Amino acid sequence: MASDTVSFLRTTLVRLKADNGLEGWGETCPVGPVYQPQHTLGARAALQEMAPGLLGADPTQILQLHRRMDDLLNGHRYAKAAIDIAAHDLTGKHYGVRVADLLGGPVTEQVPSYYSSGVGEPDDVARIARECADEGYTRMQVKIGNRPVETDIEVVRKVFEAVGTSMRLAVDANRSLTTRDALRLSRECPHIPFVLEQPCNTIEEIAAIRGQLHHGVYLDENSEDLNTVLRVVGAGLVDGFGMKVTRIGGLFPFATFRNICETRSLPHTVDDAWGGDIIAAACTHMGSTVQPRLFEGAWLAQPMIEGHYDSRNGVRIECGHIKLPEGPGLGIVPDDGVFGDPIASFG
Ligand SMILES: [Mg+2]
Repeated sequence: MASDTVSFLRTTLVRLKADNGLEGWGETCPVGPVYQPQHTLGARAALQEMAPGLLGADPTQILQLHRRMDDLLNGHRYAKAAIDIAAHDLTGKHYGVRVADLLGGPVTEQVPSYYSSGVGEPDDVARIARECADEGYTRMQVKIGNRPVETDIEVVRKVFEAVGTSMRLAVDANRSLTTRDALRLSRECPHIPFVLEQPCNTIEEIAAIRGQLHHGVYLDENSEDLNTVLRVVGAGLVDGFGMKVTRIGGLFPFATFRNICETRSLPHTVDDAWGGDIIAAACTHMGSTVQPRLFEGAWLAQPMIEGHYDSRNGVRIECGHIKLPEGPGLGIVPDDGVFGDPIASFG
């Protein structure tokens, strides 16, 4: 992406154990230390800060669990999200239902995904786009930025030449464009239907050019919390969102975000920055509940990760779609010993 190149990542998993023997799994995996303020060691420190104070809490009372986490630590939603996801997994198993049922109920068993290209050369990205359309994807995100904007404009044009309107297109600069270059990109591609995702670094820069753009604007990295979502929706600064489950603080606050978006007919994704089967399942369960006309898909890191935590039920993208896991909770049963010994235990 525009801000960084990532070759490997350390994810962080949380296992909650209840006194009735049930277990729930959660996960948080920032995509390196510069994509967002969140980072791996920060998640681990925050979890260790909260963990002693969470012993004895009822994981099925998820609202109360969030209040307790907020009493123990200010902010650090991406760490709280791992506990939130584990609590949903455990609660689903407790009641014998899927996490999607806890979130309001699935509207589909085949959750649309979308493909995200890296920042690439125009012909290469156009070829990838054609392959995605042929594979069954209904949406693609084209990464741009951190190079002359002329190249980004050429990428967008060649992708549109390759796929036309067979896929919806998002052009994601990951905060990297100046307002000057964002305006130029939009002005030089007025006939190409795409949304501009997080074109500039701040909400203020986006607000400054919004009225001059030919394209809808989605916020991703800047939509840090529900308060920011309320602010930008209320001010009419956005046409949709790329949203991450861990950034907003887990599935419980994500359900509020989803409902705010539905109230204002704002499309959005259900993603996370990175992570394996646990986070992929969490995104898929949430994605299955979003009103289809507003759903921009669930992006998963799965195509770029070798192996699964759960070799039988691991979450996979097939023909641009993700099958909603079937078992209770998240529907993921990590293989015995796959994670090794924990780096910290509390109890
Ligand atoms: Mg994005």
